[in-house]
Amino acid sequence: MCYSDLAETIYIYGGLARMELNTISIRYEGDFDALAKRLRINEDCEDEFREVYEDCLKIARPKGVFTECSVSQEGRETIVGGRRFDSRVLSMNFKGLSRVFPYVISCGRELYDFARATEDPLCRYWIDGISEAALRVVGARLRKAVQETYGLGHINSVNPGSLRDFPLSCQRPLFDLLGDGPDEIGLELTPTFLMLPYKSGSGIYFESEARYENCMLCPRIDCPGRRMPYDEEMLAVYGIESPQERPQSVCGRAPYA
Ligand code: SF4
Repeated sequence: MCYSDLAETIYIYGGLARMELNTISIRYEGDFDALAKRLRINEDCEDEFREVYEDCLKIARPKGVFTECSVSQEGRETIVGGRRFDSRVLSMNFKGLSRVFPYVISCGRELYDFARATEDPLCRYWIDGISEAALRVVGARLRKAVQETYGLGHINSVNPGSLRDFPLSCQRPLFDLLGDGPDEIGLELTPTFLMLPYKSGSGIYFESEARYENCMLCPRIDCPGRRMPYDEEMLAVYGIESPQERPQSVCGRAPYA
């Protein structure tokens, strides 16, 4: 199935099960006015910004990988494609489901390498902003591709590192579920479970009629990426302890969680 100029489907073998990996790679078309507004570009630097923007558009190839995995519950643990997760959020959200859809997305190595090779901090900041916009676009495209590929209705995502209950260390088993897919799109997991390029995202999509956002269980204050109010009652529904204090730091997914 083709979603873009470079999409492909790869089959890999994990144990006895055949796993289908779908990759997506798109051209980022950009939106100059929206980016200029978000990055507060004024008349004095508009020409310089336009030059950087056009260079970015020439090379930008944001990418993603997704697959389908079986899911089951065993006591406290949720087993996704043979990997075990001890998470209330996963066990509650995946209850009654037989399959879920791990994925990763990235702005692409092209923009990341361009930013790293740029010495001017202001230009690097602009490239980061453009990379983040490219990530949002490929994220939306991948979400649609997951729905179309597997014939799904409304889907939600859980993301490692967004909540203490589903910590960043869960990146390792999530990456394992995607086999060589992350490598093939130039996405690297560091020993501390951060992703390179930095403008990347990961998670597991699951089908559900009700809307779910990590943000409703997340106590962080002043988060620019918040998409739902924090709801203490939902913590009780999910069986998660109330935090002692509300930190100010934001999760790795914000503001494109
Ligand atoms: S986007 Fe912000 S509010 Fe939402 S889960 Fe991440 S840190 Fe929490």
